[in-house]
Amino acid sequence: MLVEEMTWEEYRDGVGHKILILPVGSIEQHGPHLPLNTDVVIPKGLAMMVAEAVGAMVLPPILYGYKSHPASGGGPSFPGTTSLDGSTLTHLALDILRDTCRHGGKKLMVMNGHYENVAFVAEAIDLLLREVKDSVRVLLVNWWELVSDEMLDELFAEAGFPGWEMEHAALTETSLVQYFAPELVREDRIVDDQSERIPKYSIFPPPDDIVPSSGTLYKATYASREKGEKLARHVTDFIVDIAREEFGRQ
Ligand code: ZN
Ligand code: MN
Repeated sequence: MLVEEMTWEEYRDGVGHKILILPVGSIEQHGPHLPLNTDVVIPKGLAMMVAEAVGAMVLPPILYGYKSHPASGGGPSFPGTTSLDGSTLTHLALDILRDTCRHGGKKLMVMNGHYENVAFVAEAIDLLLREVKDSVRVLLVNWWELVSDEMLDELFAEAGFPGWEMEHAALTETSLVQYFAPELVREDRIVDDQSERIPKYSIFPPPDDIVPSSGTLYKATYASREKGEKLARHVTDFIVDIAREEFGRQ
């Protein structure tokens, strides 16, 4: 399932007919309780669940992502938040996708875990299609966009849903890491937090009062492993349906 652990012959035998999933994340602060690779752990975990269900292959993830924005990731001021220029990310993703297609890959899925990556990964896919034309189909999946309103109502019955941008190092990401990699969660460091003001525009460089000092943008104490499992299964079911619809029965 994990391409990096396959031999070239095993890879060769699957690449032309299986779905190939590329997780893309970030190295970014995620509060006092979650690891810097939270945005990698989540899409890689989801990719593995989808791969299990449809027999897909999971490509080695892109660990780094585009620059963290204060309103959706805390911004660049935290030690550890290490980001790529947009063109770097675009060309890194393009190089990987292009070579995957050169080997015969035709059904590609980019599983994104970091809000700020979206435009730059979409650009990579667009540039790829200029080269490979319609011999290849690529899906770009942002997991948070697949969560139904009913699931949100259920998960946020007590905490109240703040909008996806603010859901950084908060209920959903904490719950999902508790499910996928519980050993990485510092349970005794989980806090609720919120910035003093939330401007509806961007300020460069970002002032201190628009970013909570903990790095958690909302309520993380409402997280649980059970919520993480429920959410992971919900999103996986959705992606499996999408894969079958867009790529045919696997
Ligand atoms: Zn995140
Ligand atoms: Mn992020």
